[in-house]
Amino acid sequence: MCIFCKIVNKEIPSKVILEDENFLAFHDINPTRKVHALVIPKAHYNSFEDTPSTIMGNMSDFIREVTKELNVNESGYRMITNIGKDGGQEVSHLHFHIIGGESVGRLVRDKNDL
Ligand code: AMP
Repeated sequence: MCIFCKIVNKEIPSKVILEDENFLAFHDINPTRKVHALVIPKAHYNSFEDTPSTIMGNMSDFIREVTKELNVNESGYRMITNIGKDGGQEVSHLHFHIIGGESVGRLVRDKNDL
């Protein structure tokens, strides 16, 4: 079982931000910004490449609830999903990074951003 499935099953603790039947948002263990959250579907999909569009649609609604909870919905944030080897994905369970709480700069200038 992957590490994020273990977090879903509460076998590994996490700092939960928001949870419903299908999705979970929790704080990244190694934050790169003042706000750094991860949003995942509870069901396991390796990455965006494997995720059905219905899940993606519902996840969009959930993510907007999370950004309100984090109080970055108006100030803005960056949302990133890394995909596969060249995308720098370390955990093979679809997740969106939400970073913000401060200016995150321009992506093209931030070579080390996630
Ligand atoms: P990625 O490189 O896109 O696969 O990102 C994986 C992210 O998961 C990294 O930002 C890690 O800091 C984060 N991470 C790994 N293990 C945990 C954990 N147990 N709890 C919270 N975040 C984690």
